[in-house]
Amino acid sequence: LKKKCDPVEEINDEIKQLLDEMLKTMYKAPGIGLAAPQIGISKRLIVMDVSPRPGLKRYQEENKEKEEIKPNPILMINPEITWVSKEKDTDEEGCLSIPGIMANVTRPSSCKVKYLNKNGESRKLHAEGLLARCIQHESDHINGVLFIDHLSKTKKDIILRKIKKQQKEKEETTQK
Ligand code: ZN
Repeated sequence: LKKKCDPVEEINDEIKQLLDEMLKTMYKAPGIGLAAPQIGISKRLIVMDVSPRPGLKRYQEENKEKEEIKPNPILMINPEITWVSKEKDTDEEGCLSIPGIMANVTRPSSCKVKYLNKNGESRKLHAEGLLARCIQHESDHINGVLFIDHLSKTKKDIILRKIKKQQKEKEETTQK
């Protein structure tokens, strides 16, 4: 997860299948975003869906009354953030690759991103709020950066210790 991923040269069936697989994994988790390196593929591919869904913390907090929520998947091939706002926001983030860990991360509150869609067409998007945060988090993944890398050294050390402890406990239970 610490490696910079390679750009996609050609959008073939293999890439399309991979994107489908990534969406499935993300919805199953459930999560709001996933990058290819998280399923062991070193390619510049990200998928996102920030619409409220059952199982997501935000859904439970903000949308208790709403019944049907349509999925709104966003797929990006070779995404490139071309601009970020000076204005910043702090919000809690988690990551499917670091289960059980949440931390407040400060990031630009809006950004512009350039990418290719599934049909290989060039697209631009100006994102704000949760989507902007998600795009930045997932773009970090394909550049080998994790959300905990944005934290102060002290905070990061605490989290790394927690992860190590979790791994140790996991190993112990599998040994039993
Ligand atoms: Zn992540």
